[in-house]
Amino acid sequence: MKRYETDVLVVGGGGAATASTISAHEKGARTMMAVKGRFGQPGVRGAGATSNPMADFWTIRTVGPKGGFFNPPELVHADMLQTGLGMADPDLCQIFVEEVSTAIKRLRKMGMDFQSKMLATMPASEKTKGTNNIVQIQKAVIAGTGTEVVEQANITDLVVEDDRVMGAVGVHDDGTPFFIRAGAVVLATGGVGQLFQYSFNPPGNTGDGYAMALRAGAELFNMEFMQQGIATTWPKPVMVMLYEMEEPYRLLNREGKSFVHEYLPEGLDVKEVSNLKAFHWPVSCRDAAIHLDRAIHGEALRGRATDHDGIFIDLSQGERGFQPEMFVDFMTKHGFDIAQDLVQVQVFHHTSNGGVRVDTTNMSRVRGLFAVGETMGWQGADRLGGTMLGGSQVFGWRAGGYAADIAKEQPKASLEDARIEALIVEPLAKMKETKGTKRPEDLKPGLQRHMWKKLLVEKDAEQLASAQKYIDEERDRMANDLAIAEPMDLALAFEHRNLLDVAEVITQAALLREESRGSHFRGDFPERDDANFLTNIFATKRSGTLEVRKQWINEERGWEDAPGDVRIMPWG
Ligand SMILES: Cc1cc2nc3c(=O)[nH]c(=O)nc-3n(C[C@H](O)[C@H](O)[C@H](O)COP(=O)(O)OP(=O)(O)OC[C@H]3O[C@@H](n4cnc5c(N)ncnc54)[C@H](O)[C@@H]3O)c2cc1C
Repeated sequence: MKRYETDVLVVGGGGAATASTISAHEKGARTMMAVKGRFGQPGVRGAGATSNPMADFWTIRTVGPKGGFFNPPELVHADMLQTGLGMADPDLCQIFVEEVSTAIKRLRKMGMDFQSKMLATMPASEKTKGTNNIVQIQKAVIAGTGTEVVEQANITDLVVEDDRVMGAVGVHDDGTPFFIRAGAVVLATGGVGQLFQYSFNPPGNTGDGYAMALRAGAELFNMEFMQQGIATTWPKPVMVMLYEMEEPYRLLNREGKSFVHEYLPEGLDVKEVSNLKAFHWPVSCRDAAIHLDRAIHGEALRGRATDHDGIFIDLSQGERGFQPEMFVDFMTKHGFDIAQDLVQVQVFHHTSNGGVRVDTTNMSRVRGLFAVGETMGWQGADRLGGTMLGGSQVFGWRAGGYAADIAKEQPKASLEDARIEALIVEPLAKMKETKGTKRPEDLKPGLQRHMWKKLLVEKDAEQLASAQKYIDEERDRMANDLAIAEPMDLALAFEHRNLLDVAEVITQAALLREESRGSHFRGDFPERDDANFLTNIFATKRSGTLEVRKQWINEERGWEDAPGDVRIMPWG
């Protein structure tokens, strides 16, 4: 087993990880990054969601490209809470609005070039090597910090003694196990998009941070809330900016028939639902906009979508809206002739709103264990567009500084080898002995398809029971029919275990929440029920068994539903 040692270990290579690393270094800590695949190379394993060229809208309502306030922070704060429908963390949202301007200015100083006068956007360009450049810019800074970057390092579990994190274990792509002793660990592993067949998350985003934190004794919350959006399924996935479209959208199933009206509750028409969806950009769904997602997804479940699960949409009215030329240009660049052709779309997973429960220093209830970016929980039942990238910088930076402080109190006690080996060497040996037929990559498509059908858009008790059954049976397959054909399969098997653990949390939280709120829609409980569900759902693990419970983070201060939805428009 390889051994490493550091003060602050940052797990991940996305924008939240890079911010944490620089900040911890500035506080005088020795820093190490453990990254799946290659660090800062877009398009390969290891590139996080941050490097997706479509992740380019920043802090839309809060600050402009130079960090100046665009809208009053208190209004943005109120909108964030309203969008979260009582489920967002008000303290963390407050920190966000107060510090995001500083984060933008800090990035500008590092060399970030925001490319719009109005919005802090930064479209990918040749200059940014075809990627959103937060990671590239910060990678260059990290090169001067003495940080040891350990690549092809798949962290599989945290080492915890007496509720204090002591480091992490993992496996390299070549099958070599390792242990990193650390005074503090920052989890920046992104979200869990890879649980779903249709997702924009890169291959490494398998919910590892959520699953590891849970096993280590931390709490997760709001995991039933996920953003979802419309994107093309074929010939390749491209997000569709619905705010550029004529409403009501002309949507047709494979039989060429309109269908959205079949999914609408009484009193709603297609135009109203289409308008709401457009206002929300593509990914928010706290109101009747969700019925458009239900309809598109529902047609696929009923076998009325194309062989690519696609619903036809007519985008030929793309000459309107906020930035029509950019939209048409964008679609053309991706090979779509939207003036001539109908385009096939479906509902994709976009981001996870919940995550590890942290305090205002970003520490979980396990001392020394921090979570940042999409791995932390702070957003509510729905969220405003453009807050995730800004949040990754604000909270990533804060966590790095606090982690450096905590690392100084690192207990000197030596860890028994047997304890570390039980976490990584033994499970690896057991996996290698398996003589089954299913490699992890053989199992993944089935899991992703099932969870996309049962967990992402509309669900009910029956579908959720089916999701749980699949999870249980898949765990049996992992135990009895796993095949390890090459060293990389070991890391992939750990990832698959994590996908199952997170799927179970989402399933059980969604089952417990017998109402519809924000992005969480229950066909058997289609109304919001504040009397019984003005509460968050927390998940913990005790002796390997998952427990979910109601616990409201706003119990003491309450939350008032403000009629009229958000005040600053658009989007989100
Ligand atoms: C298509 C798309 C468009 C988006 N658009 C916007 C937008 O316009 N505005 C906005 O605010 N947000 C947007 N988002 C969301 C936003 O991009 C993400 O929430 C944010 O980038 C997450 O950053 P992160 O650093 O937390 O995680 P990521 O950037 O996803 O990085 C996670 C990193 O952790 C690594 N990792 C994971 N597990 C392990 C492990 N076990 N061991 C070692 N390394 C590991 C991964 O390989 C990766 O390097 C978009 C997301 C997508 C997918």
